[in-house]
Amino acid sequence: MFGFSKFCPLNTQKNLKTKSKSPNYRWLVTKMTVLGKLQLGYGKKIPGSLRPDVWLLCLNCQDATNQLLSFDEIFDLTNQNDLRNDVKKFVKKLGNDDDDKLSVISDIESIITFYCKSKSIAYTSNNGWIELLLPLLSLKLPRADTYNLFDRIIKLYIPNGCVKNGVPFHILRLVLQYHDPELCSFLDTKRITPEQYCLPWLRSLFAGTCNLEVVLFMWDLYFQRSDPFFIFFLCLIMIINAREQLLQMKDDDKTAIIETLIGMPADLEANDVSDFCSLAHYYSLKTPQSFREDVLEVLFSENLEINSKLYSQALCLPVAVHELIESATVDANVDNVKFFLVDCRPSEQYNAGHLSTAFHLDCNLMLQEPTAFKTAVQGLLNAQRQALAAGSLAAGEHLCFVGSGRTEEDSYAHMVVASFLKRNIKHVSMLDGGFVAIHDYFGPHMTDCLEEHNPSTCLVCAPSNNNDGAELRQTKVKENLRAKQLFSKLSSAMKAKSQEVKGKLIEYIVNPNSNLNTGEWHVSAGDRKEQRYRNVPPVFSINDEDDDSRTDSLRKDYTESDSLEENVDINSFLKEYNVVDSFQCQEVLLNGYMHDSYLVVTETHLIILRDIPNKRGAAKVMSRKPLSTIVKITAKKRHPELITFKYGLPDGDNLLIKDMDRFLIPNASVATKVVSNQIVHQLDSK
Ligand SMILES: [Zn+2]
Repeated sequence: MFGFSKFCPLNTQKNLKTKSKSPNYRWLVTKMTVLGKLQLGYGKKIPGSLRPDVWLLCLNCQDATNQLLSFDEIFDLTNQNDLRNDVKKFVKKLGNDDDDKLSVISDIESIITFYCKSKSIAYTSNNGWIELLLPLLSLKLPRADTYNLFDRIIKLYIPNGCVKNGVPFHILRLVLQYHDPELCSFLDTKRITPEQYCLPWLRSLFAGTCNLEVVLFMWDLYFQRSDPFFIFFLCLIMIINAREQLLQMKDDDKTAIIETLIGMPADLEANDVSDFCSLAHYYSLKTPQSFREDVLEVLFSENLEINSKLYSQALCLPVAVHELIESATVDANVDNVKFFLVDCRPSEQYNAGHLSTAFHLDCNLMLQEPTAFKTAVQGLLNAQRQALAAGSLAAGEHLCFVGSGRTEEDSYAHMVVASFLKRNIKHVSMLDGGFVAIHDYFGPHMTDCLEEHNPSTCLVCAPSNNNDGAELRQTKVKENLRAKQLFSKLSSAMKAKSQEVKGKLIEYIVNPNSNLNTGEWHVSAGDRKEQRYRNVPPVFSINDEDDDSRTDSLRKDYTESDSLEENVDINSFLKEYNVVDSFQCQEVLLNGYMHDSYLVVTETHLIILRDIPNKRGAAKVMSRKPLSTIVKITAKKRHPELITFKYGLPDGDNLLIKDMDRFLIPNASVATKVVSNQIVHQLDSK
């Protein structure tokens, strides 16, 4: 979707030293222009003369003591020789004069040796420390200050677990998947994990991979920003930047792709840094924040046991319930992540209580009725698009899926989420803890915040009635002060939204018991007009359309058939032609596509108008069917709003179905009643 320009091929990177401009990062400028006047006042390039003081200040080292005083100056690490050789090798590449080299070698070796000794940790080759020290030494500070900066940077900014299969790489993968699922799945397919290319980026904050000028500028912005998580977005931009080039390498060897990625940071030039960081900042704004809470603790605290499984097995980015609810209550103009909630619990759970803003997508459908599921997904994406276009409060470009929070059921919810990811849909997340988390969050105010909550059928309430769980839950709720504080603000916001959602979004899967048993749908068995149909079954039936396979084959090409190619103005059309009633709906084609349409009932005909995209008020007449040819109107039990009109003629005891049309009609029961009345009316008047 982004117009990133292509990166230069690998072989031109040899000439990087001589380039004055970096065409490869021109996309950043383009992208920034596209983003408009995104003014980021979080940091500036610092003049060289001020840099040492600003860095010391930003890293809180100004008044730090001279730790080196306790250095015994004995260089006796177990692998002292390795360290010395590594340092020499590194400094040799720098090209300074010989006196300089000696002092740099001595500084680096001393600082690392003392660091290892005072922390009782071992030096390992390529751990990023040597690279990290170069920008610091360029400040020409006293060795004690350099040491303090080095110590602080490792503590505050270098994530723990920068090792094979480490947590940072799982997190980076989740962030990449969130913003670019296609690229993520491409790399997954190639069995390329982030650790294979961005280990040096994370270990040295790009110091080992970018030129010194770039690193100094980048760190200026980084330390002023003081957000240790920012490194992940810098890495993300590096990867996304290469997306076009990478996707073209689908037939290439894994190693070639990794080499390409590894080479990315070397192309960055000082002029690009500001845009590069701004873009990373933009992506960080467009990423849910709450998952960082746990992650930061894991990544930046000492001696914490890390359960990397927690992150390696995550299906997608987790979102905490407080972020979900808070984002629903903040001002729509605030530039934060807005969620479009998808409740994918089974119907019976949804019907026992749910958030009013949630779109219901029954996860059981996916296995039981794949076609209906496809339709519902299409409807969901349409509803999301419409809500966004209409500026609805319930709109959000970030899809957050809500499962039950109960392991036994959530495998289905996970399958639903996986199906969205497979379609390369961006911004997919899951609510951490599912519906249970929502339930707990609201605590005693739950009944005001949930729609249709029924304590006797609610799975969170019901099983805890007779056991200790209830008490536990109660305690947890009492401690949730934040929820209480938010409550009053929230309750009204939720209620306002509820109205809006009802008006704008179509809920495809509703309680099968709510509409169907009212009798409105059926022509009653005792209806004397039924005899008109002789042996034909009642025209309206609610069934599971088990004869679909037979009838569907009649209309192979839904799109073209019956198209009259007649364009009309909708408003004037509805005023003419003896129109009895009309219904806004969506025509559902066999392939799952849907078109915004009108179902027009005249005294004699059923007419389908289809909106012409980008021509407001104009429509194309798709078909005109005499009402007398309608032999059956069916609705699925699970989708009372998915209505099929079947056309044909009675053939002995059977019906010969000749054609059919299928629609999603928001107020389907009214529409079918109007059609049925009109059919009956027409028969009466004959
Ligand atoms: Zn409950």
